[in-house]
This record gives sequence, structure tokens and C-alpha cells, in this order.
Amino acid sequence: MTALRAGAASDTGRLRNINQDASLLADPVFAVADGMGGHRAGEVAAQIAVESLRAWAFDRTTDGLVEGVRTANVAVFERASSDPELRGMGTTMCAVALVDGEDGTGDRMAVVNVGDSRAYLFRDGELQQLTRDHTLVQTMVDDERLTPEEAAVHPQRHIVTRALGIDAEVEVDTWEITPFSGDRFLVCSDGLFNEVDDDRISSVLRRLGDPNDAAAELVRMANEGGGRDNITVVLVDVVDDDDRAVAASTALADQPLTTGDREPDLAGFTTPAPRPDDTAVVAAVPLGGPDLDAGGRRRRRRRRERPAPRRVTWRSLLFVVLVLGVLGAAATSVWWYGRNTYFVGFDGDEVAVFRGRPGGFLWFDPTLVRRTGIDRDDVPDSVVGRIDEGVDQGTEEDALDYVANLEEQIDSVGGPRGDGRTTTTEAGGPDVTIETTTTSP
Ligand code: MG
Repeated sequence: MTALRAGAASDTGRLRNINQDASLLADPVFAVADGMGGHRAGEVAAQIAVESLRAWAFDRTTDGLVEGVRTANVAVFERASSDPELRGMGTTMCAVALVDGEDGTGDRMAVVNVGDSRAYLFRDGELQQLTRDHTLVQTMVDDERLTPEEAAVHPQRHIVTRALGIDAEVEVDTWEITPFSGDRFLVCSDGLFNEVDDDRISSVLRRLGDPNDAAAELVRMANEGGGRDNITVVLVDVVDDDDRAVAASTALADQPLTTGDREPDLAGFTTPAPRPDDTAVVAAVPLGGPDLDAGGRRRRRRRRERPAPRRVTWRSLLFVVLVLGVLGAAATSVWWYGRNTYFVGFDGDEVAVFRGRPGGFLWFDPTLVRRTGIDRDDVPDSVVGRIDEGVDQGTEEDALDYVANLEEQIDSVGGPRGDGRTTTTEAGGPDVTIETTTTSP
């Protein structure tokens, strides 16, 4: 059983006075409607459309969903025809719904669209627009009179060529997609994608797992980008896919894919308008036509490809810098602890001053700094054991003081000694000499 989890957010934006968008979260159907019309007519049209779809007894097929949108169209159209104040109102309608695939092929996600709201699929870290806008500029893009980039900023980009409520009949575009766990279906009004580009939408979908949080963040970013229109975001996550993804992986492992013999048969099908990124997961299904298993097949092919390299963003750079800073500070602390302390110990049978920790610390071995000329045999028994283990001293001066005390102790016990050996200095720096005398027994 496929399971979905949805979240939504909507806002009037920063320039409009009223929110003429409406949304529907009524598992298994989710929709966005963007109303148009003077006064409050657009708001009424969008509300009628989503309430009609909510009330409609949903037979779980793509055709059934199309029927629901047509029913909503009639509801808006009749209200517009009967109320002079609402004449000419209309609304977009973009919806996704979990439906039963034909021929027992399991759960499918049906996508339907009328107007310029959009449905996207976020899968494997990539955002793909599923629907095709019914706008004047999209028509010009199709005719190669505009590039998609020009269309995105064209002053007439808001002119729609298809909407609910304008006529008693409406043509509905449909797609069917095999949903996999981890898929995120984004349905939104144009107030989102006119203000926030695909990369930034992807970044949010990658970052925020909770659908309500992600929807709210997208609305916030649209307002930050200008908020020139109402903004509505519905996000539908596939949280359980009945092990389809696992089965697809297994099939892939068992059955290496060869090119040439597994291309989907597109004869008799229409595909969505070509888009630069339109490479996978969707194929349009003509109404009532057979179901094309494009989702499953394409997915297997995609899984054999290398993942696209992640784009380096300032956030990831900042993260790397912070991590390097923390590692650097830790390494400095370790170095300080391991190297910048001293101890008094034995070098063979001679008392000596060492730099480092007794026995070493991590990869820092102690190094001999000075010999003292004090023989093990001269050291009082009460101290030999401690010096064997190494007597920690914070600084070189402290270590030398310790040695001086030790000498005094030896002198007081054993009296003056005679050969007057002088210590040597191993390390550089000022040559501190410790005069010692030893006594022959
Ligand atoms: Mg709008």
C-alpha cells in the first residue's frame, strides 16, 4: 500500500490584498487552484473548484480524476453564468492523486493540469516539471518564438490559454507516474515559481524533510523574492511505496539492461512538450489510453547512471571552512598537549629532562632536552619510582627547578661530589647549564 504524507502553505504575498489561491489536501487527492477575476470572483472560482473536487466521489483512476476536474469546471462555469458579479471568473487547477494503475499494475500517481499552476516531481535530488503551462508564452516557446528563459520573465507570462469556468467543456492534460519512496510531488501556483528558481526550490526540498516546513519555507522565499502574486504550495511525499523501489533495484541487479531492446514504445502516445530537462519518469497518457510503464523502466535506466555532481554552494563552502577550523583547533590543542609540556625521567641510568608526555602521546614521542649528570644510583630511593614513571612539569624551567631540588636533596644526603660533570643541551636555544658534582663512594 502506497502511503503519502502532505503539507501545505499559502500566503497573499506582498502586493495583493486578497488570496485568490486555494488548495486541497484530501488524501489521496491534492490540488492547487489559482483563481482569476475581478473583485473577489477569483477567490470564489478557486474555492468552488477545490470544494467540488473534494466533494466528488473519487473513483481511483486517472480518468476518474479527470472527471472530477471536469465536474469542478462545470460548477465554476455555472456559478459564473448565473451570477453577474462573478461573470468571467475562472481558475487554474493542478492536482495529483494516488490512483489504481490499469491492468493490476499497482498504485500510480495521476497528475492533471489546466492553466498555469504546476506540478513538479523531486526525485533522486532532481526537480522535474511534470506539467505544461497553458499560457501564451508557453505556446510561443513551443513555436520556438521564445526561449524558456525569455518566457520566464515575459510581461505577458500571466496570460493563460486554458482555465476552469470559461466554457462548459474543458480539456485536461494528464500524466501517470509510478511513485517510489522518497519522491516529493510539489504542486504550486505561479506565485512560487515566478519568484523562486528551480535550484532554490530543489535546495529547500533537499534540506527540509517535513512537508509543512518545506512548504512554509518556499512561501517565505517567494515573498522574499518579491511576493508579487498569491503563493500556494502543496507538497506530497511518498513515504511508503509497497517495496517497489526495492523490487526495481532487484530487477536491475538480476537483469542487466541492454540498450536498444527496451525503449518504451511511444507509438500512439503523445509526450509532454519537449523541455531541456524532460528526460525521464513521465510520459503523457492519452485519456483512456493504455498505461505506459515509463516510470519504472526509466527509473532503472536512471539508476545505472552516475549521480549528477552536487553543486558547490556558499553554504557547503561555509560548512567546510567551519569543519576545517574546528579540526585545526583540535589539532593545535593535541599538539600543545603532546609537545609543549616537560617531564623529568631517566635517559638510560641518567636523570634527564624531556619534552612531551611520559611514554609519549598519540604520535608525539618525548624528546630529550637535557641530561643532568645525576646517576640513578644517586637518586634517593623514595624518588626513583616517580622519576621512572616521569615527573610532569609544565615548563622547562619547572623541570630544571625540580632537578635542582633533587640535587640539593642528594647533596644533603650524600655530601659533596667530585667529578663536576656538566650537562649537555640537545635542543637549541639558550644554553642553560646545570652544574653538578658527584661524589665517589
Ligand atoms: Mg497566480
